[in-house]
Amino acid sequence: MTKTPTLELHGLQEVLDGISRAMERETERGRVADFIPELACVDKSQFGIAVALSSGEVFASGDAQTQFSIQSISKVITLAMALGRLGDGLWARVGREPSGLAFNSILQLEQEGARPRNPFVNAGAIVVTDAILATSEPREVLAEILQFLRTASGDNSIHISELVAKSEANSAHRNLALAHMLKARNNLVNEPSRVLGVYFHQCAIEMTCVQLASAGRFLMSTPETNLISAENIACINALMMTCGHYDGSGEFAYRVGLPGKSGVGGGILAIVPGRASIAIWSPGLNEQGNSALGTLAAEKLARRMGWSIFV
Ligand code: GLN
Repeated sequence: MTKTPTLELHGLQEVLDGISRAMERETERGRVADFIPELACVDKSQFGIAVALSSGEVFASGDAQTQFSIQSISKVITLAMALGRLGDGLWARVGREPSGLAFNSILQLEQEGARPRNPFVNAGAIVVTDAILATSEPREVLAEILQFLRTASGDNSIHISELVAKSEANSAHRNLALAHMLKARNNLVNEPSRVLGVYFHQCAIEMTCVQLASAGRFLMSTPETNLISAENIACINALMMTCGHYDGSGEFAYRVGLPGKSGVGGGILAIVPGRASIAIWSPGLNEQGNSALGTLAAEKLARRMGWSIFV
């Protein structure tokens, strides 16, 4: 398969509509995340997909204007912020290797010491948020994350769902365990409750596929989208490719061939370097906590457009 010539993008709308229709017929839709009660009641028959190009053009299909909880996709933004502040200093506190374990696993932290495997597993993301809190108050950090997303997408309506943040806070036993373990091992500067307060709120940001695809352009490495440095774009994309889908990262790389980041709200952000930013949402999750139909749709889109970085 060859790379997509620009002209072929005119067929993109039909491709997206075709994928939407195919997803409607799918019966294996996975299970919605039930460890956050507020997410357990989301209707899993929904599916949305959007593709933003560096030109600013956005193509969308299905429930692409419905808001969903971005959850762990927010970890891409906090990583960008932490790298901007600390540069390579961040890597003293968090690693760059896939974990091969579930996103909320406690096992590795106990076994390997306090340096989480990567910034996308929960333990690593908690450290990243802690690092940002070194220079800013919780309220300022959340305002900065929102501002980042609003600037990147050009949409000022993006907001946090207080309901989802509270719902997670009330059932956050594993994340509390992780934060306390990090604190006990001297890899958390702030109090666990202060860090997790920010973490639950960043996860509770709500966006539509159109907004997320538009925001994701900052990771595309084109002159039009220079919100962060080229070095940091390359670094974040590498981590998305190797760790963005947790213990499903190998499978996502194999099937889709693009750097991606999932969230338990059922969203996926995938980047076609230099070409496109893709957002897909369907709330049913697979065994690894990644959107079941989202992964399937990303695979179909990448194949159809010749967008895998390996072809
Ligand atoms: N807020 C969720 C958690 O911390 C995010 C996990 C995810 O989206 N994979 O468990």
